[in-house]
Amino acid sequence: MKKITLMNTTAGHSIRNILQQQQFLDQLTTALAADYCAKGGQIHCGKGCSRCCSLAVNCTFFEAQLLAERLDEALLQRVDRYTERLKPLLGGATSLKDYLRLHRHESGGCPLLGADGACQAYAIRPLSCRALLATRESRWCGADFAELTAAEKEAFVNSLDRAATAFPLHYLAAAQDAGRELERQSLLKMAGEFGFSLYGNMPVMVHLARRWRLAEAVTTGAAAVRELLPLTGLDHPLLLQVEEL
Ligand code: SF4
Repeated sequence: MKKITLMNTTAGHSIRNILQQQQFLDQLTTALAADYCAKGGQIHCGKGCSRCCSLAVNCTFFEAQLLAERLDEALLQRVDRYTERLKPLLGGATSLKDYLRLHRHESGGCPLLGADGACQAYAIRPLSCRALLATRESRWCGADFAELTAAEKEAFVNSLDRAATAFPLHYLAAAQDAGRELERQSLLKMAGEFGFSLYGNMPVMVHLARRWRLAEAVTTGAAAVRELLPLTGLDHPLLLQVEEL
């Protein structure tokens, strides 16, 4: 199938903008982590520490398009297998809580995670991955709180620095807020260019971009994207959000 690319269209500058946003967020999170540590805190993230990669990862359309254009075929096939595993799970996901639980336990986690625990797309990973800075040990990033006892939950919550974390989670709030603000700006930019924004599950959008000509549908309009989704078996409100102006 011919690869559809936005890099040579008017939207190419939006993808360049994403690269600038990602670089900016890295600089900001480095500074935030240094500041937190200087005040006596500790950031536990590091190479090979990948528990957060079992979570459902969302991103903007342009971030997914960037990944779709740069991943090699072996990684794209892993993305394809992830979407195939996800499809039968969607029927049981009637709430966000169900979806996140099913994703954590049965999706196999992010398909871009290598066997060595390192991200295979680290340089172009989404803003949402870059914005997670764990102030507690990595086991808490992969923990299913539904499986903890009340005493364990209470001990965890009481251990958090409420002024710095996205309470009741242990991630640094300022970094998450910055990532979300950059996503919001990207979605506004997309809405300005195309009349709608597209946000959702990162591997699903990468799959749609490379196997289902999502970029072509995006340049046609929101209706074309909505018509495409049922054909792919991935039309689920918790996976992708199409929002018109
Ligand atoms: S893109 Fe990379 S950092 Fe983000 S969840 Fe996937 S493997 Fe982890």
